[in-house]
Amino acid sequence: MKDPKKNKAELVASETKGPEPTEILHTHLQRAFDCLQERDGELFAFLSQPKRIITVNFPVEMDDGSLSMFHGYRVIHNRLLGPGKGGIRFHPQLTCDEVCRLAALMTWKSALIDVPFGGAKGGVTCDTKTLSENELRHITRRFITELGDDIGPNTDIPAPDLYTNEQTMAWVYDTYDIMHPGRNNLPAVTGKPLELGGSLGRYEATGRGCLYATERFLTRADIPGLKSLQGARVVIQGFGNVGSVAAWLFQEAGAVILAVSDTQGGIFHEKGIDLKAATEFKQAHGTLVGLPETRSITNDDLLLLDCDILIPAALDNQIREDNAEKICAKLVVEAANGPATPKADHILNRRGIPLLPDILANAGGVMVSYFEWVQNIENEKWDLDEVNDKLKVKMHHGVDVVFDRWRNLVSRFTTAADQKGDQDEYPDLRTAALVVAIERLARVTRERGIWP
Ligand code: NAD
Repeated sequence: MKDPKKNKAELVASETKGPEPTEILHTHLQRAFDCLQERDGELFAFLSQPKRIITVNFPVEMDDGSLSMFHGYRVIHNRLLGPGKGGIRFHPQLTCDEVCRLAALMTWKSALIDVPFGGAKGGVTCDTKTLSENELRHITRRFITELGDDIGPNTDIPAPDLYTNEQTMAWVYDTYDIMHPGRNNLPAVTGKPLELGGSLGRYEATGRGCLYATERFLTRADIPGLKSLQGARVVIQGFGNVGSVAAWLFQEAGAVILAVSDTQGGIFHEKGIDLKAATEFKQAHGTLVGLPETRSITNDDLLLLDCDILIPAALDNQIREDNAEKICAKLVVEAANGPATPKADHILNRRGIPLLPDILANAGGVMVSYFEWVQNIENEKWDLDEVNDKLKVKMHHGVDVVFDRWRNLVSRFTTAADQKGDQDEYPDLRTAALVVAIERLARVTRERGIWP
């Protein structure tokens, strides 16, 4: 029997150099707690631990008749505000610790943008590039069967993430529905195909949310030479759901997309990438690399390109201590989850490069997942303008709340630092966003009380 986890891990070992997920989570949380007026060690302990970790190991019969063992996880970080909510990721390097960290991010994200969900995440350690559609369907169905009643419309609601998509969510729904006949199971999973209860605008929601957040931020922050997206030079790492949608929408808004990339590497054109040609080339060849009239570059070099806005939209730990000093962008927008490490945050902050953090910048996905959940419960279908208008209002509000909180933290910090002569840990936007989220969670914890 094969173990795909062992087979594939080495192939991609270079993809995620960086600190351990738990260390990242604790560092971010600690920075935010240090800014709170009332510091509460017990609350820190409560919010830094996942509520429940489920590990499942299961065999799948492969197309060649052999059996392979797969390892899956589902983590509920917190259900203070509502049912758990978070994606299902298929990736060869997925670990339980990483899922725990991603689940915590979902708790902060939902609290920050004020949707009634808790934080959850899940996934299976596997390499989708080496699996047939048949094998992927078997893995998905078996994973959901193993989770049984641990997911559901009022307990924990999955969605797509890295290397899962609408098709995966259709299989999730179908499996869950077969296991729970005679009731409306559509709200048990979001990111479904349109004809299966999906919401208009959900596929584009994360990229569109990034656009709205960036546009709003540019009107509030005074970044020299970058007042709007008109003519802004944008570099995007990743060309999947989030990266490709962001590329199209930023271009429509007047930006020039200088470079995009996938696992094989990046492509660059100083006058802007022809996105239609790039999309067709990727469909035909499985990669962007080699698109005529573009220069091929590595993913490492892509991050260091001279540009106005850098959008990492692929993996975590891409901007680190070893390359943050060389980032040339005027603004970094975290479309992916966790693309910058805490040390990179510190370096960018010291260099005066603002970073719109993941829990704000990519919150459009969970926002429209919430809209889908509401439509499924009410048996309604909202039109696209209604979805996008609601998303815009929420994203703009999220940016305003974080920006105002950041200014408030900075003015408090500047006064304190003047007294201490210490300017080193100037609060950044991630810290401000986390402070807003944690304060909301702290209030709800006190209101609900600790059981029993
Ligand atoms: P996806 O599977 O659709 O696309 C991933 C993209 O990343 C692909 O283009 C792939 O080629 C590229 N990629 C993978 N490894 C890479 C590497 N080492 N270097 C460069 N590119 C690489 O996934 P997605 O849904 O677009 O998710 C991307 C990120 O956005 C993830 O961090 C995910 O957690 C986050 N996110 C997704 C959603 C959503 O709604 N899908 C919501 C919030 C956050």
